[in-house]
Amino acid sequence: MKSITCYLRRLPVIWKLMIGATLLMFLLFATYNFAQYLVLKQWMMHQERDTLHTMMSQVQVFLKDKTDSAESLKLPDTQAYMRDILGKDQMMRMIDEKGKELLLVAKNFDPAWISPVQARSDFLEDAWHGEDHILIYRSPFALGTERGTIEIATNLETFDHFNDTLLWVMVIGGFLAVCISALSGWAIANQFLRPVKALAGAIQNVKQKGLQERVTNIKNGDEISELARLFNELMDQLETSFRQQKQFVDDASHELRTPITILEGHLNLLHRWGKNDPAVLDESLTASLQEVRRLKGLVQGLLALTRAESSQSSDHAEFIRIAPFLAQIKIRAETLYPEFTFKLSLEQQDSMVKMNPLHLEQIVFIVIENAVKYSGENKLVHIAYRTIHHEVQISVQDHGIGIPEAELPNVFNRFYRVDKARNREIEGTGLGLSIAKNLIQRYQGQISMTSAENEGTRVILTLPAVSQT
Ligand code: ADP
Repeated sequence: MKSITCYLRRLPVIWKLMIGATLLMFLLFATYNFAQYLVLKQWMMHQERDTLHTMMSQVQVFLKDKTDSAESLKLPDTQAYMRDILGKDQMMRMIDEKGKELLLVAKNFDPAWISPVQARSDFLEDAWHGEDHILIYRSPFALGTERGTIEIATNLETFDHFNDTLLWVMVIGGFLAVCISALSGWAIANQFLRPVKALAGAIQNVKQKGLQERVTNIKNGDEISELARLFNELMDQLETSFRQQKQFVDDASHELRTPITILEGHLNLLHRWGKNDPAVLDESLTASLQEVRRLKGLVQGLLALTRAESSQSSDHAEFIRIAPFLAQIKIRAETLYPEFTFKLSLEQQDSMVKMNPLHLEQIVFIVIENAVKYSGENKLVHIAYRTIHHEVQISVQDHGIGIPEAELPNVFNRFYRVDKARNREIEGTGLGLSIAKNLIQRYQGQISMTSAENEGTRVILTLPAVSQT
């Protein structure tokens, strides 16, 4: 039994479905047919009994009305009447108390098949003579002083034959139904499994050929095509993510290579001549330190970016009141950049956002640091906030070198620095805005920028406002 279960479990799905459908169909059909057969058989038997009953009543009435002695049973009229009552394959016999035959009429029925039996009351008997099934109805009668038994018997051969035929029709019908259900089960399973096979094929292709493979041709709108659509979407996301990862590694190694190459150049210089030449020594050490600082900045930036990409928005989220928060930021910025003037414009109404305070601080500081770095001669930075349509907008405005309009869409890309030549003196990694964008998006926020060259830049941070309930 266990091995059969094991074997069945290991069968392909198509076979399981086919066997399941066939078994179910067989059970349904067999139960229904068997019940139908039994009911029909019972009903027909009942009919036969009723017929015998009616015949017996007719005979009794006739005896009562038309005869007065056993002698009158021999009259041709009586014989003719009894013969008329009889149907095909039937017999009627009247016997006296000693078992002597008083009357016998039969149609296609041999009276020797049943031996005479006296009856004290009405009763029905099922008897067999060889292959023949016989139903006998016996009833006592009284004719003047004469007493005896009426026996009416019917051969149920036709009834049994009909029953056998019915059984065969049902068995053959059942067998055909099982065959048809097995075939249709196989066809349905095949149809049902085709998209699943296509899906499996596509997954196999992805394994062999790479992430660009997709499942096609499943457009019937059912659950399987929904699964295929989800699979394709997942593959799209995976492909994008893999491409971004690859791009990230390419960009990062490219960015890291430059300072490392410069550093290597200076170290070689020092190795060859720097030991004895203080001027070379000094120049190379200063340049090397600058590259090391840049390397450090890059590594820190990369780390921050990875954290921003992987952190969950729900991590340590708190309700933050914007006005006091920005006032704190202003104090820190003034301490860090004393040569700058920071102007803070606060809205009357104080709004709140829900996020990790360290993240908000990181985002605002990236933008303030940029405003400071790219401000040039004008050292005024304007920080403001307002609430519109359940959104908090924090803006940081500088009056510095600005960004050419064509470059604006790129500044949020990793490692992107506007006009590298222009920026050479200004230290930076091109990662700050990318980190800020990643972080703010975690909280369903946005970062946008407007700028005019040599006039200044305005960065707007938009976050959903919340109320503390
Ligand atoms: P980083 O400042 O380290 O180079 P960011 O990602 O913060 O990197 O900025 C990307 C680029 O966008 C900068 O290199 C700079 O060219 C430009 N940029 C950002 N903020 C400003 C600003 N306030 N004014 C002018 N240019 C800016």
